[in-house]
Amino acid sequence: MENITQLKALLGVPKNIVITTHRNPDGDAIGSSLGLYHFLNKGGHTVRMITPSEYPENFSWMPEIEKMVVYDIDPEYSQELVEKADIIFCLDFNALDRIDKLGDLIEPTKCHKVMIDHHLYPEGFADFLLSDTTASSTCELIVDFIHLLGMESDLDVKIGECLFTGIITDTGSFRYSTSAKLYRIVGELVERGVDDYKLQDLINNSMKEKHLRLLGHCLNNRMEILEEYNTGIFYLTKQDYEDFDIQRGDTEGIVNYLLKIKNVKMAAFIMEQPKIVKISLRSKGDFSVQEIAQKHFKGGGHKNASGGFSFQPLETTLKRFKGVLPQYRDKLAAAVI
Ligand code: 5GP
Ligand code: MN
Repeated sequence: MENITQLKALLGVPKNIVITTHRNPDGDAIGSSLGLYHFLNKGGHTVRMITPSEYPENFSWMPEIEKMVVYDIDPEYSQELVEKADIIFCLDFNALDRIDKLGDLIEPTKCHKVMIDHHLYPEGFADFLLSDTTASSTCELIVDFIHLLGMESDLDVKIGECLFTGIITDTGSFRYSTSAKLYRIVGELVERGVDDYKLQDLINNSMKEKHLRLLGHCLNNRMEILEEYNTGIFYLTKQDYEDFDIQRGDTEGIVNYLLKIKNVKMAAFIMEQPKIVKISLRSKGDFSVQEIAQKHFKGGGHKNASGGFSFQPLETTLKRFKGVLPQYRDKLAAAVI
């Protein structure tokens, strides 16, 4: 962040601050919002968090998560908070269309905007930008941000546990996007008192029976392996959504099971949700799924984890996805894991 001195000066005086993050917030979106919230609160600011849509229930143990204002539930209050803000932090997203109507509210505001994010190709709407696509997570970047401000003595257990949560979820418990720097940061968080075992347990061993049954259903009945294209697909129908009572967050992590097959280098999860067909893409090694998400499914994301959506029916979307594969066949075959 080039103009950190200016931001540091702004934060030297108590401000009205809004923290916002992307739709369908994941562990990193929630962890970075809450971590920054507790940090700024400690600095004497009046801080509010807004998320465009509801957060998954499995994060309800996180300290003060209930203070998150959900735009979909409370649009008027969200608008009031945005209008009153002196500074708006945008975390874990880099384009205002990722936050839908909330983006339309934020765009015209005159207040200072700070973007902290690790996705590819950031839009230029922020006055202060901390963007690093090599970072594991936005939570890692919040630790960097605290260091840039020279306020690491404020990094306590509560802040650390929120940030550790996003690091665990965005790295699949330290399996990808790791670096020596990340391990140093994690070491610092543990030194501050973060209980890594407790957090791993809270995050990874919190499935309900219905989640395991849904995973079984995907593995048994909704899986296609296209060896020719080193690609695996899971899909879910509208009927599955009813039969398994699938709620927000219930499909999290399932797509990764496809990558357990040795020669599968790209995994796709195509979900016929009530209003749209959502697509989650994952890859191994140097094959990037970002381009497929952006070019063909109005989305984006990272090299190894991207997503998008389609308004066409499930069948058509599945066909369209399969239709794209021949163009990538050689790249997939050649990709180094
Ligand atoms: P997931 O598959 O877990 O929903 O998302 C994986 C990654 O892709 C996330 O980092 C997310 O930011 C990105 N992503 C998912 N859906 C969309 C989308 O509709 N638009 C864009 N631009 N990115 C998405
Ligand atoms: Mn993230």
